[in-house]
Amino acid sequence: MAAITGRDSMVIARTGYGKTLCIAIPLLLQPDTMTITISPLKRLQRMQVLDFMHKYNIPTLGINEDTPNSPEFYIHRVVHQKLAFASNATSIRVSINRPNIIYATHVLIDGRYNLRNLDCIIPPSFHPPMRLPNLLILHGDKAETSTFAEYNNSRLPPAFHSLRICRHYHSDMSPEYLEETYNSFADPDGDVLILHATSGCGEGADIKGIEGVVIYGLTEKVPMRFQWEGRGGRSTNNDAFAVTMLEPWVNEMDLTTAVYDPDDPDRPVLPDGLKKKTPTKKERVGMASVQLARCETCKREAYAKFFEDDSPEALEFTCRWCCDGHPDNGFSLAKLFLGPIYTGEVREPAKRKRNKYRDVKDRDPLVDLLTTWLLNTHSSHELRFVRPPSFILDAPALKTLSMADPALISSPKSIVSLLKQSEEWEGMWAQSLFDIISEYDCRHAREDEEPARKRRKN
Ligand SMILES: [Zn+2]
Repeated sequence: MAAITGRDSMVIARTGYGKTLCIAIPLLLQPDTMTITISPLKRLQRMQVLDFMHKYNIPTLGINEDTPNSPEFYIHRVVHQKLAFASNATSIRVSINRPNIIYATHVLIDGRYNLRNLDCIIPPSFHPPMRLPNLLILHGDKAETSTFAEYNNSRLPPAFHSLRICRHYHSDMSPEYLEETYNSFADPDGDVLILHATSGCGEGADIKGIEGVVIYGLTEKVPMRFQWEGRGGRSTNNDAFAVTMLEPWVNEMDLTTAVYDPDDPDRPVLPDGLKKKTPTKKERVGMASVQLARCETCKREAYAKFFEDDSPEALEFTCRWCCDGHPDNGFSLAKLFLGPIYTGEVREPAKRKRNKYRDVKDRDPLVDLLTTWLLNTHSSHELRFVRPPSFILDAPALKTLSMADPALISSPKSIVSLLKQSEEWEGMWAQSLFDIISEYDCRHAREDEEPARKRRKN
């Protein structure tokens, strides 16, 4: 009754009391009105939709992150259809176009895990008074944000390391850290210039001075990418850029067998992946997202088409270049960044790293030498009747010493660490052992040289 008479009301009641009825009755009594119900749980929302539709016969639509067609932009169509809007309903629509954003894509060399893909952010020759732009780098993964922030900081001259110009930002950090970092990034005079953030920040951040956004790895849905790209250039009409860096598999996916559903353009290309408990990103990525990422013509036009924006200003742009889809407009990705774009490098096939050991033929003579020393030392030691020779050097230790790469035995200390011995042991035996081994190695080196010298004489 309170709702019908226009008074605010609050109902706090146990489950099953009939709270849903409180929403339904006013609707049934006033069929020409519309009600928006906010549900804290998707499960609850689904239950209510079923209830309203079947029990009360009220046209109802549940909208949440799973709603086909990505609610942010398709909501108008869904609402119109499902709620049976009157033909004379008022509709206000403004263009989705952001005329000061330059759009571009770039394929990641070796995939997401090659840090060098973002080398363009900090130029190798960075020095004051060069000015780094305010950049927001968006990652799909928390760990990735800190790895890249650390890497980019390490690329700055040492004097800048303590300023931590590049920061990571994700929900596992303390509220104090997040606030301080956000404020410093948002402050035109703040120290933080490059923010590596996760999607949480990407969707919500309303920071004025962002000059460029890099989306590191394709988003699963187009509206998400568009939202993230739109974080840049919000305060002024100055140019900002939005670069989406694509995993190499984006261009390799086979779309010929995929089903395009106009009512659900974000339907995954590989829908079987969703049956898995933890589908990979490749299995979650939507058809439209892949298609748009592969677009080689005008990106602004592709967005306008996707969002059904046919307003006259949909394709207008005020920035220096519209996007990277116009072969003759003089655009190149390198013009957006201070440093060169990483294009990969020819790498030597990785040599298998293996531990080096002393030549097998040289081991036994050394064991003999060490054993002789051990027996002599033990027989003259004052505790020889209480302690066996193994107290000085046991069989495994003898083996370790004889096998070890000669280059590793460079000091008495190195023997101590090789055998994991105590300081006391070091004081008593390390020097003698080192002398024996190094003398043995010197002799060997001389013997190896002899034949060479003879050859030269001939
Ligand atoms: Zn364009």
